[in-house]
Amino acid sequence: MSKAMLIDTTRCTACRGCQVACKQWNDLPAEKTTNVGSYQNPYRLSAYTWTIVQMREVEHQGRLFWSFLKRQCMHCLHPACVSACPVGAMHKLPDGPVLYNDARCIGCRYCMTACPFRVPRFEWDKPVGYIRKCHLCYDRLAEGLVPACVKTCPTGALQFGEREEMIALAEQRLKAQPERYIQHVYGKEEGGGTSVLILSAVPFAYLGLPTLADHPVPSEQELAVPFEYLGVPSLGKEPVAKLNDDLARYGTPGIAIGVAAILAGLQWYSKRRGTGQHTGDAAAAAKESRS
Ligand code: SF4
Ligand code: SF4
Repeated sequence: MSKAMLIDTTRCTACRGCQVACKQWNDLPAEKTTNVGSYQNPYRLSAYTWTIVQMREVEHQGRLFWSFLKRQCMHCLHPACVSACPVGAMHKLPDGPVLYNDARCIGCRYCMTACPFRVPRFEWDKPVGYIRKCHLCYDRLAEGLVPACVKTCPTGALQFGEREEMIALAEQRLKAQPERYIQHVYGKEEGGGTSVLILSAVPFAYLGLPTLADHPVPSEQELAVPFEYLGVPSLGKEPVAKLNDDLARYGTPGIAIGVAAILAGLQWYSKRRGTGQHTGDAAAAAKESRS
């Protein structure tokens, strides 16, 4: 059964305990950051910061909201990063996490381009860098534990369990307090569904979340990675063996006739040149005998 995380932004106080827990569990270094005039810090995800609490000040229906949204990999049910990777370095586990395999990666970074949430980050500071992102604490899940961020959240803004249970919990909250929430569970259908579900008091677009159709993103983005870039030949619908047969059957006589025609032409031309040469020699001899 697939697991999921429910993020209820209306319960988040932006304590950022989840950010710290992620760093601790994954042994990620602190980064030097710049204050850009927002409570949000670090400002964006990086190869060493796999989750951040995003802050948005939003006016909605005449009210001012401070909206805090924990950003991270959404662990899509049909991940665009997996579809885009030409060497299978990205893969999704049946229980939810979308993982990355260093050993397979060739560094093309198609996953970064394909992700509709702009999640995967590259280790630009290393001579041979790799992709880094949240892995949904797959190692903790294997031990029957919840992700470190969920474990540390003191307000219940983060919940974790079976995806169906998380959807039911989210819908229960929407029904119990309709005035508190936008009546939608983000991630239930978006992009074919995600393993991170979000509740919000303000429209999801205000939070910078993309508006996605209910089908997998790869079907929209397949052309983002043209096959010729991958060195894959352009083939028609005919089986290749049949094409070869046809070429052998119908192409060979044509080629043979063409080669024979070229050879005959060359022979005729050289004969003419030979005749011309002899004619020239005879004329020169006659001229010499007259002088
Ligand atoms: S959010 Fe991006 S990186 Fe994460 S699974 Fe979806 S497509 Fe892949
Ligand atoms: S630990 Fe919970 S309350 Fe604190 S910032 Fe993270 S999601 Fe928000």
